[in-house]
Amino acid sequence: MSPATTRLLPVIILSMFGLFACQREADQSQLSAPAGTENEAQVESRNNDIPFGQLGTEVVPQAYQLTLTIVPELDRFSGKAVIELEISAAKDYFYLHGKNLEVSRVQVTTTDNKLDASYEQVDKSGIARISLPAAVSGRVILEIEYNAPFNQSLEGLYKVSESGEDYAFTQFEAISARLAFPGFDEPGFKTPFDITLIVPQNQVAISNTPEISSELKDGMKVVHFATSKPLPTYLIAFAVGDFDVVEWQPLPATDIRPRELPLRGIAVKGKGDQLSYALEGTNAIVNALESYFGIPYPWAKLDILAVPDFAAGAMENAGAITYRESLLLFDDTATPGRKRRYKSVHAHELAHQWFGDLVTPAWWNDIWLNESFATWMAHVAMDIAEPQANYRRDLLSRGLGVMASDSLVSARQIRQPILSNNDISTAFDGITYSKGGAVLSMFESFLGREDFRQGVRNYLQAFEYGTATADDFIRHLAAASTSQPEDVVIEAFNSFIEQPGLPLVELSSQCSAEGLNINLRQSRYFPLGSSGDSDQLWKVPVCIRTGSGDDSSKTCLLLTQKELSFKLPQACPEWIMPNADGAGYFRFNLSKDDWNKLLANGDRQSTEEMMAMLGSLNGAFNSGDLDISTLMSVAPQLIASADWQVVTSPMGQMEFIYDRMARDGQKKVLEARYAAFYSNRLEAVGLAATEDRDQASLQAALVEFLAETAKQPELRVALVKMARAYTGFGTDNELHPGAANPIIIGTALKVAVDELGNGFTDHLLRLALGSTDAVVRGRALGAIGNNKDPEKAAEIRELVFSTDLRDNEVFSILFPQSFMEETRDATWKWFQQNFDRILKRIPEHRWGRMTVVGNAFCDAEKRAEVETFFSKHIQEMAGGPRNLAKTLEGIDLCIAKVKYHQPELEAWLGQ
Ligand SMILES: [Zn+2]
Repeated sequence: MSPATTRLLPVIILSMFGLFACQREADQSQLSAPAGTENEAQVESRNNDIPFGQLGTEVVPQAYQLTLTIVPELDRFSGKAVIELEISAAKDYFYLHGKNLEVSRVQVTTTDNKLDASYEQVDKSGIARISLPAAVSGRVILEIEYNAPFNQSLEGLYKVSESGEDYAFTQFEAISARLAFPGFDEPGFKTPFDITLIVPQNQVAISNTPEISSELKDGMKVVHFATSKPLPTYLIAFAVGDFDVVEWQPLPATDIRPRELPLRGIAVKGKGDQLSYALEGTNAIVNALESYFGIPYPWAKLDILAVPDFAAGAMENAGAITYRESLLLFDDTATPGRKRRYKSVHAHELAHQWFGDLVTPAWWNDIWLNESFATWMAHVAMDIAEPQANYRRDLLSRGLGVMASDSLVSARQIRQPILSNNDISTAFDGITYSKGGAVLSMFESFLGREDFRQGVRNYLQAFEYGTATADDFIRHLAAASTSQPEDVVIEAFNSFIEQPGLPLVELSSQCSAEGLNINLRQSRYFPLGSSGDSDQLWKVPVCIRTGSGDDSSKTCLLLTQKELSFKLPQACPEWIMPNADGAGYFRFNLSKDDWNKLLANGDRQSTEEMMAMLGSLNGAFNSGDLDISTLMSVAPQLIASADWQVVTSPMGQMEFIYDRMARDGQKKVLEARYAAFYSNRLEAVGLAATEDRDQASLQAALVEFLAETAKQPELRVALVKMARAYTGFGTDNELHPGAANPIIIGTALKVAVDELGNGFTDHLLRLALGSTDAVVRGRALGAIGNNKDPEKAAEIRELVFSTDLRDNEVFSILFPQSFMEETRDATWKWFQQNFDRILKRIPEHRWGRMTVVGNAFCDAEKRAEVETFFSKHIQEMAGGPRNLAKTLEGIDLCIAKVKYHQPELEAWLGQ
């Protein structure tokens, strides 16, 4: 699965991404005994063995036949599940999963008997008990007939309406298949599925496998799909509606795959012609993955589906991958950034077809590896498909981006036992995706790309169509290493996944006639104001590059102890880079002298090294080892760089200083200084649209920074003009997509919301709600959410409850209102007053992430309010306790950082 992210609020939205809420406490109201026969002791014994974790291994599904009648126009659907079971110990009751299903008939057939059984949901998380009149064992057929409501919050089997048409889609990961059919809803149970969908005769039905027949019966269309290869419940998918189905040319056979692969694109009616770009790009990615894995695409066909309302970014259902529309539908105005995002996400979901679907985690505690691997593999696959496009750099960028949250005391380890609801629902966060991806990248570099790939191939071949654990994966990697002993690799890998936090490697050096003495010291990195204990050890792969002039040499080692000193037989270098190629997941620190030498030789570092260096420089500022004047003295050199990632790297701290530290009188001075830093770069780039992705990324960041933080008047005027032309405001009031540069129109709309008054906000809202285009709606709502006028903002917040907004659009309003200085206090008050209503609008599996609305506070009083308010509710919010701890810790760190650095701001501004 890919999280739902946007470019503007990456960290916060990523952290908002939650999955599911598995309630561990039995719902006592549903624990009443079946009428009749049992005594209290029997009932109690049954209620004591409800499996809130894994179901166990005594009742194991072997195959499913699912027949579902899905009419999207109705409120409910119905189905029949026939599940073949192997029961190893005689049972007169057993458990499976089913949630909010109204069951009308249950029958169990053994080799010599047919028994009527009963079905009872015994916990609100969707655990159900099948009770039988007699004990059964061996091969047994379980039949359940049921009906259920379409889900209201984008999970299970749910409805989306657009332009008067109703459609049905599914999202089952992690534990929502149980809302659509009864079954054994755990990743470890993989079986073949035979699926039949009964749908209105003019509608299309899609599932994981190709359609093998379809007939009309009683005015309905009965569609049979081919028997699947073994799959877990969470990878099953259905879609029903009057779709546009685009039959693309099959992907041609290759050396690795001897057959053609059928490819289709599916979108709601009228949008099929926007699928061409995504379909066109698919072959190159599938080929790259096949060449990496050495295994053909595992399924009989590939469908990609654009879903108008979708909670995550995308979902890797085997052979039927679902995406948010904004990731899959493209018209002429699509920006290079959006196309790149499509490729990364598409490659991520396609990588899952092998890693996750072909080989599936045995239990949720290893879902991190699924996501870490797909994150890493997406960039590696795109690097194979488009070697000039620097996709691996994006992976490094994500690794550097997650370091702030990995610096919290409340950071979790990558691999965590799934012991409680709270652990499960936080397992799909930035630590899993971005840190996990960065750690894999580090070990790929440590083992060497060839050996690492061989380990991946061996692992997939060993477990294909089955399940495996992270230990299996690491063992295969270690065994494939031709340079490192197995146990060394395993221990080093485990040191990064089984403990939380970010290593800090401090390097000091002395030169003498005999050579260069280097001392390395490791600890856990913490910023100012942290209460964490830095005494922690990893086994860190470290590569140091030393250089003089244009010559450099690299020394690699595994840093296993707290401190290590060694001598390099070389003359005094001009600079030392402690993280060669940026390959290591750690921050480093240097003596002031070594920092100065490294910074002075920035042009001799690769882009990746500069990015790693800047991450460490930021870390040094956050931990108080670097002051504002030094930071600002380095900025001009970075801003002059040829790489946009380097040019834009000082912006984050500059924004923090402006938003949090600067007092009113200081802001104007800062605006002028920031403009002086960056204006000439924007002049060179201009405001016209570009097809070059690097230029586009630079332009987007410069415009946003100079317009919104540095508040440059001329730029703001130009953007308002662009916004007027785009929206037809004051002229024909129609949308003119061709009249604006799509790369910067989002910022232009925000500036126009500030400058043109509430009439423009109303106009923009009308345009947003009148459009079915996810991108148009998203950027307009994002700008509307930025309205800072107290009265209008209050009105806008109420949109959160409007059904005019799609479920996945609610956060475009809620987040900016919570974060902006002008609106956050009022939003916080409103949030507390409307808490119950807000929760009702948000999928239950996201409730725990709602503490994020307190993230922008930076004072003790509001911290106390956030703690007091959420403490009352947090136990009801799966994942809530950890998220609340993160929010509160973030506020503490902000307070400490401001207090420490604020006096330096005076000094720098006085210079
Ligand atoms: Zn994924």
